[in-house]
Amino acid sequence: MIKSLANTLGYFRFFYSYLRYRVLLSILLNGLVGLFDGFGLAMFLPLLNIAAKGSGEGSDLGIGVLEFIPDAIESMGLELSLPVVLGIMCIFFALKGLARQASESYRVVLIEYFTRTVRLELIDDLRSLRFKSFVQADVGRIQNTLVGEVGAVVNAATAFFQVLQQLVLVCVYVFFAVALNAQFAALVVIGALSTNILYRQVYKRTRGASYKVTDLLNRLQGLLIQFTGNYKYLKATGSLQAYDHRLKDVAVNVERENRKIGMLNAILLSVKEPILVAVVSLVIYLQNGVLGQPLEPILTSLLYFYRSLTALIIIQNHWNKFVARTGSMDNMIDFSQYLKANRETTGQKTITSFRGNLTVRDLNFGYQGKMVLEKINLEIQGNEVVAFVGESGSGKTTLINILAGLMPPDQGFYEIDGQNSQELDIATFQSRIGYITQEPVIFNDTLFNNVTFWAERNEANMAKFNEALEKAAIKDFVDELPAKDEALLGNNGINLSGGQKQRISIARELYKDIDILIMDEATSALDSETERSIQDNLEALRGSYTMLVVAHRLSTVRNADRIVLMDRGRIVEIGNFAELRKKSDKFRVMVEHQEF
Ligand code: ADP
Repeated sequence: MIKSLANTLGYFRFFYSYLRYRVLLSILLNGLVGLFDGFGLAMFLPLLNIAAKGSGEGSDLGIGVLEFIPDAIESMGLELSLPVVLGIMCIFFALKGLARQASESYRVVLIEYFTRTVRLELIDDLRSLRFKSFVQADVGRIQNTLVGEVGAVVNAATAFFQVLQQLVLVCVYVFFAVALNAQFAALVVIGALSTNILYRQVYKRTRGASYKVTDLLNRLQGLLIQFTGNYKYLKATGSLQAYDHRLKDVAVNVERENRKIGMLNAILLSVKEPILVAVVSLVIYLQNGVLGQPLEPILTSLLYFYRSLTALIIIQNHWNKFVARTGSMDNMIDFSQYLKANRETTGQKTITSFRGNLTVRDLNFGYQGKMVLEKINLEIQGNEVVAFVGESGSGKTTLINILAGLMPPDQGFYEIDGQNSQELDIATFQSRIGYITQEPVIFNDTLFNNVTFWAERNEANMAKFNEALEKAAIKDFVDELPAKDEALLGNNGINLSGGQKQRISIARELYKDIDILIMDEATSALDSETERSIQDNLEALRGSYTMLVVAHRLSTVRNADRIVLMDRGRIVEIGNFAELRKKSDKFRVMVEHQEF
């Protein structure tokens, strides 16, 4: 009980952290709804009295604290006649209508604000996530949380605020009921609360199922990503079926758990009202039949309880909907804490002009305690072409990632133009970097937007765009397309060969105003003719950019100013082609077998 209260407070705190004073305003508006409603309903007592005695005046109405209402009316010089009572009742309900309109619309505003803030904050947090944390995170979970779970959390928020609103109403009604007849109120409240024990088991099972759903959905998303990502492989090797089984298994389980939640919800929906009516009937019988109390205050009280009951049923429904999404809520809270805890810390200094000197001193780097780079020392001059070679797993990509400022060293220093990378606003450095990876990066958009990253179509940009296409040896291809640079690329767009994708990726980097060009050289995506044409173009760029290349081609290795030979996380030799051939047996063997 205490634990679940603490949990609920935790969720409240989560919502409150986004909405702050807005939550209180919403509670206040609902308090007003209840208050006007309560006063309106209180007018039933004088009405009942008028019905019984022909006048609501004089006699003790037996309404306890609420006596002040008829007193106030009389002190205003009005007599408690039928038209006065009815008129006042109408005024209260009109006010209630206004308050209700305000509170309902405010809830919509609240939810809209919440959704927007959660989405934007997640995007921000993901953008500021440390790269090291990103590569170690579960992509399925990231995608599911960003896409699917936000929806579930918004539904949870909607349910939660419905509960909160109705809870405020219940409090106000119970307050009125207590003011009217404390004993009757106490008995009904105790009776109603004790029925809650009946539902404990249902809640527990709903919560359990909810956790399972989130967990399964995370897995499903992860499997789906791999399914689409590796579709060709799976199909070509006849492995689709085996994979398909796993996928369907998870999908079926998700629905099984969802069905369980639905069934439990149905039980709650149907049994609540009859049970509560039985409790109330019992209490009325006790009060009137056994204890002989007058029926009018009890009947008016009943109006409050009937209102509370309606509110309680709404609460139960929404609460159950909320509980069904606590798995998503916890996942979201966890995930957003994870993102915040792994925020990239970056310095303040911005890079305005860049000379291009990159220096690494005594650098160590590892993943989860396993050393990946050890005692790395390297100096790169501006406009130098440096090739990184070594066996797979020797640490080339990791070193390049560090040079690109994606990950800070665990120990040692990385200096950019003599400044410690940790003190720099690394994004200003990264905007000077072009990155061409083995897997070309293509977005689902037009060719123009793919290259220019959504630049304006003005004359200067068009000229730059055409020049980039030219340099990347893809201009002729684009000119021959029916839609030219408006052609759609990506999933639903035109089919590009591996080489064409690569050249568009290169064009994007060349369009950007960069100083450093990093290339994770493709081993297979390019046919030899394309490769040669790009090679020629890149050769022409020599001297204009600092080029860092994870090299797989003999031509790159041969033409590099310096070659960094890596082995098991260490730099074993540095030198130009001729020097390395002389110095290193390992390198000689690699050249002979062309294994880079
Ligand atoms: P290369 O580019 O030379 O093939 P990498 O830099 O990709 O080598 O990898 C170097 C080592 O770091 C490998 O042993 C690899 O297993 C490890 N490694 C790379 N990425 C991760 C990661 N996200 N988590 C744990 N280990 C990793």
